[in-house]
Amino acid sequence: MVQIPKTQKAAVVGELGQDVQIRDVPVKTPQELAPGECLLKMICTGVCHTDLHAAMGDWPVKPNTPLIGGHEGVGEVVAIGNDTVDSPVQVGQRVGVKWIAHSCLHCEHCRKGFEQNCDDVRISGYTVDGTFSQYVVSWVHTVTAIPDELDSEAAASILCAGLTVYRALKYSETNASDWVVIPGAGGGLGHLAVQYAKYIGRRVIAIDTGDEKEKLCQDLGAEHWIDFAKTKDIVADVKKLTGGRGAHAALVTTALPSGYTQAVDYLRPGGHLMAVGLPAKAHFNAGIFDVVFKSLTIHGSYVGNRQDAVEAIEIAASGAVKCHYMTKKLSDIEQVYDDLRKGTIAGRVVLTMDV
Ligand SMILES: [Zn+2]
Ligand SMILES: [Zn+2]
Repeated sequence: MVQIPKTQKAAVVGELGQDVQIRDVPVKTPQELAPGECLLKMICTGVCHTDLHAAMGDWPVKPNTPLIGGHEGVGEVVAIGNDTVDSPVQVGQRVGVKWIAHSCLHCEHCRKGFEQNCDDVRISGYTVDGTFSQYVVSWVHTVTAIPDELDSEAAASILCAGLTVYRALKYSETNASDWVVIPGAGGGLGHLAVQYAKYIGRRVIAIDTGDEKEKLCQDLGAEHWIDFAKTKDIVADVKKLTGGRGAHAALVTTALPSGYTQAVDYLRPGGHLMAVGLPAKAHFNAGIFDVVFKSLTIHGSYVGNRQDAVEAIEIAASGAVKCHYMTKKLSDIEQVYDDLRKGTIAGRVVLTMDV
C-alpha cells in the first residue's frame, strides 16, 4: 500500500497571467473520494502549449483559479472512491489523465461518442485541478489504462498531442497511399502526426522550418519537406509534389491562420481540412467558392473520446509512434513556460513530480 500524505507539492497559478509557484496543497483522503473518483499518485506529466494559454487566460472561456494546470499525466491508482460500481481500473494500475477529465456518458454528445463535447464536461487543468501536482483526483471511467510495454514518460504526451492528431487522421476520410499535408510537422503535435500518418499508410508532406525540424520529419518518415521560410509558394509546392492534383487531406497543427488558408488552396477536390491547431484569436478566411466548388470538407477535430485514446496509446505501445521529449522537474515549470513562449522546444517536455 502506498502511504498517502496529507499535503503535496503542486504548481499553482494564483491569478491568471501571474508566474507559477510551487505550493503545498492538501491531498484528498480516500474517504473523501466520491463514487467514481480515483486518487492517482502522479509519475510524470507532459507540458502542452494549452497549459500556457490557460495560465495566461488567453482564451474566451477562463479557467478556475487558483489554477493547477496539466492534462497529459500518468499516475498510479492509489485509491478508488467507496461505492464505485464496475471500475474498469484497479488500485496499483498505471493510468493516464487527459484533457477531458470527466464526461457524463449519458448526454446526446456522449451517447454519440463525442465525449469531448459533453454537456457536463470537466477539463483537467482548466475546470478541475490538473496533473501539475503529486496527487490528482480523476475518474475511473475516463482515465486511460497504460499498457506495461509503454513507459510513463513516453505515454504522457500521447494522451493529449498523440490522441488529438490520431483522431484527426482517423476522421480524415483518407485511404492508404493518400497524400496528407502536415503544417507544423516539426512541433509537439506535428511530429506525432507524421508517425501516425505513416503507421496508417498515408504519404506525408511535412511543412515547418529549420534544419533540426527537417531532419526530425525526414527521420520519422515524411516523404517530402517544405520549409515555409524558404519557399515562395507553399500551394504550388504541394501541387507539384502531388502530381499537380493537390493533397487528399491537410492536418493543420500549426496555430498560424495562414496554415488554414493555404490548405484550402492546395487540397484536391473532395479533400479534407482537419482543423486542430488553436490560434488564440483568429478567424478562418476561406473562399466559400473554393470550398463549395472543390467539395471540400472542413472538419474541426477536438482531442478525442476514450476509444480514440485507447487506440492512440496502443499504437504507441507497439513501438510505431514515439514522442520526442526531454525530462525536467515539476519545479522547472516556469522556465519551461518561458521556453514555450520563445518557441525553442523541439518535441515535448515531460516533468517528473520532483521539486
Ligand atoms: Zn494538450
Ligand atoms: Zn455527456
